[in-house]
Amino acid sequence: MKHRNQVFDNVLDLVGNTPLIKLNKIASKFKGNFYAKVESFNPGHSSKDRIALYIIEQAEKKGILTPGDTIIETTSGNTGFSIAMVSIIKGYDCVLAVSSKSSADKIDMLKTMGAKVYVCPAHVSADDPRSYYQVAKRLHEEIKGSVYINQYFNELNIDAHYKSTGPEIWKQTEGKITHLVACSGTGGTISGTARYLKEQNPKIKVIGVDAFGSVIKKYHETREFDEKEIYPYRIEGLGKNLIPSATDFDVVDEFVKVTDEESAHTARLIAKSEGLFVGYTSGAAMQAIMQLGEGGEFKEGDNIVIIFPDHGSRYMSKVYSDKWMTEQGFFDSKNEAAAQRIQYIK
Ligand code: PMP
Repeated sequence: MKHRNQVFDNVLDLVGNTPLIKLNKIASKFKGNFYAKVESFNPGHSSKDRIALYIIEQAEKKGILTPGDTIIETTSGNTGFSIAMVSIIKGYDCVLAVSSKSSADKIDMLKTMGAKVYVCPAHVSADDPRSYYQVAKRLHEEIKGSVYINQYFNELNIDAHYKSTGPEIWKQTEGKITHLVACSGTGGTISGTARYLKEQNPKIKVIGVDAFGSVIKKYHETREFDEKEIYPYRIEGLGKNLIPSATDFDVVDEFVKVTDEESAHTARLIAKSEGLFVGYTSGAAMQAIMQLGEGGEFKEGDNIVIIFPDHGSRYMSKVYSDKWMTEQGFFDSKNEAAAQRIQYIK
């Protein structure tokens, strides 16, 4: 592991080894110690740097990828940015099929990083030929010598976190972690991190965060894929309308669902209380902590680690835009729970 007072060969040397930062205010009404694993300290500003670098290097080791080849992926933005960054350094072409739910900022960023971007409709089923899954599959078939990362169905997504995020948290907490709280999209982060941590101490409680409108929580509880759970929601990167094989449901103890509105207010509260400018799903993860804390989940001496997946700058036209918040109606309702929390931290 290199330290920041050294010279780095290139930006990829900075992937991983993100800081664990104590949260001093936002959860102070609950018992226990709260720490955020702040993934925006990765050079691509999200946890997805880990999987992009790991999966591409595994493909290189197996001889599947050689410079000049094309890397294809479906992505809500962060994975695409990370793959584009790795592709620049390693000399690959990067082609991305992106959901129309992704912010314009994210799409512009991907283009800036040299990626070719296809924008696909968000609210169609996964097997619709217009969906970003099907578009990526088609491109993979059409482009000779291409590699499809397929993060939702790639076991290496789990391995990347098993080999990095998990051991880092174990070391940073000196083995004292009692709870892990993490969002689940592909499920790679929570599955790999939890798998490693539970191997060290099976008593660690792992709580996944899911969105209303997603099938993940119900599938965990019943092993039933229930289409009736699916409806559009705003948080990007959290929850799913399919069951990803990159989720190991056995290492998660329970899932908590959070709303778009409360997660947005809580994301803003993280900035105001802790000075940490993080993304929408960090707000979702923290919102889950609020709900769990209010339900009496935490006790004195607990060490709770929450993963904050990305940086707030990616959401300037969404959660951090007063105009957007107003358009969603998020300033209309008196959000009693959020108001109480704001009073608490003053
Ligand atoms: N937050 C954001 C912003 C994301 O882009 C993602 C990935 N889709 C996640 C959380 C969830 O991480 P994972 O895919 O590893 O479950």
